[in-house]
Amino acid sequence: MTFVVGLTGGISSGKTTVAELFHQHFAIDIVDADVIAREVVAIGTTGLTAITEHFGHNILNDDGTLNRARLREIIFADADEKSWLNQLLHPMIRQKMQTALTHTTSPYALLVIPLLVENQLQSMADRILVVDVDESIQIQRTMARDGITYPHAQSILSAQATRAERLAVADDVIHNSTENHQLLPQITELHQKYLAMSGRNL
Ligand code: ATP
Repeated sequence: MTFVVGLTGGISSGKTTVAELFHQHFAIDIVDADVIAREVVAIGTTGLTAITEHFGHNILNDDGTLNRARLREIIFADADEKSWLNQLLHPMIRQKMQTALTHTTSPYALLVIPLLVENQLQSMADRILVVDVDESIQIQRTMARDGITYPHAQSILSAQATRAERLAVADDVIHNSTENHQLLPQITELHQKYLAMSGRNL
C-alpha cells in the first residue's frame, strides 16, 4: 500500500508549485484530482454519455467534447443539478484516483485534491498537507494569474472552504505567503518526514 500524502489548499495557494517541487527535487509521483476529473468526462467515457443523456446534446461542443463552461453555468444556478453531477462523477473520480495511486512507484505519493475539505476526502490520504497563504495575497495572486477583478477573486474564495477549515484538518502546513524560495526548505523537511513515515528511508 502506497503511503499517500493529500495535498490541498485554496485557489492560487500554490498547490501546483509545491507538487512540482516534490516531483522535481525528490521524484515523488503526483496524482492530480483535476486531471482525473477531466479524464472521466473525456470523449467515449460513460461519464460523458451519462451527462449527455441527462442534459442533452447542447452540453457538448461541436467537436463532441464537454462544454465545461456551459455545465459550470448550469450547476452554479441549480443545486439539484450540481448534486446529480457530483453523485455521478465523484465515485468515478475517487475510483480512478485509487487506481492511479496503486500504479505509483515513489516511496510515497502526493494526491493533489483542491477540494479535499469541501468534498470531505480526508480518508483517501494517510496524511493531509495544506498549503496555507494569507487571503489578501491569495486574492492578489489569483487576480494576477487569471486576469480577474478583485470582487471576482473574492467571490471564488468565499465559495471555497475557509483557511481555518483547511487548517483544522491539516497534519502538516506549508506556508506560502512569502517568496517562492521559502518553499524548498519546507518541502525538504517534509520529504524527510514522509520518507520516515512511509518506512522507505532505509
Ligand atoms: P489553483 O488551484 O488555483 O490552480 P494552485 O494552488 O495550484 O492554484 P499555483 O498555480 O501553484 O497555485 O500558484 C498560483 C499562482 O501564484 C501562480 O501564478 C504562481 O506562480 C504564483 N505563486 C505561487 N507561489 C508563489 C510565491 N511564493 N510567490 C509568488 N507567486 C507565487
